Amino acid sequence: MTQSTGPHTLGKVRTHPTQNEALLFEKSAPGKRAYKMPPLDVPAVDAEALLGSAVRTDKAELPELSEIEIIRHFTRLSTWNYAIDLGMYPLGSCTMKYNPRVNEAVSRLEGLADAHPYRPESWAQGVLEIIDLLERCLLDITGMDAITLQPAAGAHGEFTGILLVRAWHESQGNPRRKILIPDSAHGTNPATAAICGYQVENLKSNSDGGIDLEALAAQVDEETAALMLTNPSTLGVFENEIHRVADILHARGALLYMDGANMNALVGKVRPGDFGVDVMHLNLHKTFSTPHGGGGPGSGPVACKSFLEPFLPIPVLVQNQNGTKSWDYNRPQSVGRVRAFYGNTGMFIRALAYILANGPDGLRQTTEDAVLNANYIRKKLEDLYELPYKTPSMHEVVFSDKRQAAKGVKTGDIAKRLIDYGFHPYTVSFPLIVPGALMIEPTESESLEELNLFIDAMRSIAREAEETPELVKTAPHSTRVSRLDEVRAARNPVLRWKRENSSQ
Ligand SMILES: *Cc1c(COP(=O)(O)O)cnc(C)c1O
Repeated sequence: MTQSTGPHTLGKVRTHPTQNEALLFEKSAPGKRAYKMPPLDVPAVDAEALLGSAVRTDKAELPELSEIEIIRHFTRLSTWNYAIDLGMYPLGSCTMKYNPRVNEAVSRLEGLADAHPYRPESWAQGVLEIIDLLERCLLDITGMDAITLQPAAGAHGEFTGILLVRAWHESQGNPRRKILIPDSAHGTNPATAAICGYQVENLKSNSDGGIDLEALAAQVDEETAALMLTNPSTLGVFENEIHRVADILHARGALLYMDGANMNALVGKVRPGDFGVDVMHLNLHKTFSTPHGGGGPGSGPVACKSFLEPFLPIPVLVQNQNGTKSWDYNRPQSVGRVRAFYGNTGMFIRALAYILANGPDGLRQTTEDAVLNANYIRKKLEDLYELPYKTPSMHEVVFSDKRQAAKGVKTGDIAKRLIDYGFHPYTVSFPLIVPGALMIEPTESESLEELNLFIDAMRSIAREAEETPELVKTAPHSTRVSRLDEVRAARNPVLRWKRENSSQ
């Protein structure tokens, strides 16, 4: 790996903007075109005769520009943004790892990229083969018995998983009423439980950031459907007593759901199926290196133990006697479909390419590197930033702004100052049980040189917070815009250019 210079170059672009920054509409001049059509050499059609009143009479208000002006406009806009392809993106809980280009190449192979979801199964055997192989790899990695690849994201996987929990309890005669969720959980967990008709009951973490077994035992009863547990937790802490957690739940007929978004810390080392988990989801767009962010397609497969298999969404992939594969819709206990067609197939291809390119040893190494990198950052920063939980870190480390806050510098200020140093901010103010949290996840992708640059930046900012706190509190200073009114931007988003705005 080479030392990244991306973000630092980007900083230069930002501080020395080019002259020619007017927006497309302002640059528009009547008659300019990005194309030239040859003269018409067929009889002209009377559009109105053909389409009647559907023919537009007024001119669309589109900017008129040359091709190079358009290209420069969009390319310039792209340099005002930040990307994983430009530098480190240490967003804890999000696992922003590098997406190898080979995944992209494979997913764009003509036979795969052009496969239509309405193809008959007999023409789609290649895609079905890929789905089957990915299913088997993921079952091997998780130690579970059955899987669906349908859900389109992590939260959608949670929804599907809790539907399985509900369907199973219903088959036992009582759907039960509540789901327990630790206070360190990702916000999607309580949202999922509520949307599946359950009451959410909060479970307080102990001083190590783990589950308090006594509190759990006191809280689980005959109305508890499941515990939703993220392991390692959003504090980056592995739940050492997970076996006992599972035993306590199972003794009362409750199930253990694992939010597997943090599998980047476990793949190749331990398997949830071996430590008592009944059902879990994976985020292919986190752990298995398919792109995410910006609302792109994700994938949240759900894996379960065999007693939950009858409830999996339809259709389920099966192998026929002649060796071909097909979709089985005849599953009377299924919770039904959760997604159209096969799921986000492009993500399956990318994830499988990643898994096969790494192999078991490579995946294990990836996990070890991710954990090593997080702990390297922890060691190099723990003298300057408060570490609220001393429990060993897994793939991410959570500091707090306690020391800097004494000078009025908050986690959000430190994050914004990081932008001036050429880094994307870490995750701010999450998990909620750490006031002023700085949640940092470097992933395995970063080189020692890049980690050191990040550490240097964080150390400089800690010094600035002491000596020149105003500098940090008013950051970023190098971007095109600095502090936005975040509430107004969310409540009153202006997403479309309108002529009235042109004077602003
Ligand atoms: C990202 C994440 C989710 C939600 O996944 P999406 O794909 O964003 O819906 C759930 N739980 C945890 C712990 C996560 O990190």
